[in-house]
Amino acid sequence: MKAVVLNKTSPIEEKPLELTDLPRPTVADDQILVKVSVCGACHTDLDEVEGRLKPTKLPIVLGHQIVGTVADKGKAVTKFKTGDRVGITWLYSACGECNFCQRGNENLCGEAEWTGKDVDGGYAEYMVISEDFAYPLPKRFSDSEAAPLLCAGVIGYRTLRLAEITDGQIIGLFGFGACAHIVIQIIKYKFPNSPVFVFTKTAEHAKLAESLGAAWTGRSGDQPPAKLNKAMDFTPVGECVRDALAVLDRGGRLVINAIRKETPVPPLDYSRYLWLEREIKSVANVTRADAEEFLPLAAQIPIVPTIEEFPLAQANEVLIKLKHSKLRAAAVLKVCE
Ligand SMILES: [Zn+2]
Ligand SMILES: [Zn+2]
Repeated sequence: MKAVVLNKTSPIEEKPLELTDLPRPTVADDQILVKVSVCGACHTDLDEVEGRLKPTKLPIVLGHQIVGTVADKGKAVTKFKTGDRVGITWLYSACGECNFCQRGNENLCGEAEWTGKDVDGGYAEYMVISEDFAYPLPKRFSDSEAAPLLCAGVIGYRTLRLAEITDGQIIGLFGFGACAHIVIQIIKYKFPNSPVFVFTKTAEHAKLAESLGAAWTGRSGDQPPAKLNKAMDFTPVGECVRDALAVLDRGGRLVINAIRKETPVPPLDYSRYLWLEREIKSVANVTRADAEEFLPLAAQIPIVPTIEEFPLAQANEVLIKLKHSKLRAAAVLKVCE
């Protein structure tokens, strides 16, 4: 099968992703073989390429926002039949037995495996996964529209959940890429009386934010019209943590959705940035419950993902664009026509 593999970590500008041929994987009893239609490109893929988040094996096939159809299945599979459309997220497996799994926090499971980091992902014509970690997708979304829902959407939903917003609270979003452009649509639906202020450095993202209902747009470091009750930071930039805390109201909460920051978080003067019950919470990974709650909600709202499509062979170029904020919103790699 055709696959794009990462053989060794390096700056993306050196184009380390290589289009090659790999043997088609075969299914275990509980697994489905997925013929990949499209796979979303995510900032985490870039973190793996550049070594900020080390893949556990090399070479590896990246990609964890996968849409495809069931092409084969193991003897014990009961949830899906051949030809069914499925979506796959970052969560590839979890142990199901540890304290975290038992309490619904399988995103924190020490034994969990991550799609495209610990096992081969969706930058390939085929991949295999346990039927328990694949999801049916709402019909209203095309394959390409569904792809960004599977990471940007699901983890955005988790970020929003952890922010514990009540309607009318003032919300700030830092960074306005694949994730935040979905999150703002959920906020407008669930919390219609909450003004949303968007902090982004690109004019095009600001325009998209305004078209999706942002009450104000500016850059990280700017003063918004009012202090924030809840802030969500989607950027890879450490300084944005301090910028967000600087405009967070007393008792406010900052939720950081980043698996790695490319630049360090600057020192935080306690009295200025943290005192008066300001909170910081990071978001890690996703659970199956996040996906199972979010996907039907996305269809109900309905979320309109802004996507840009590229051929799989352009994976290097797409991640270069992602690194330099040159994508309008969510990039989707077309794997099989
Ligand atoms: Zn992702
Ligand atoms: Zn576990």
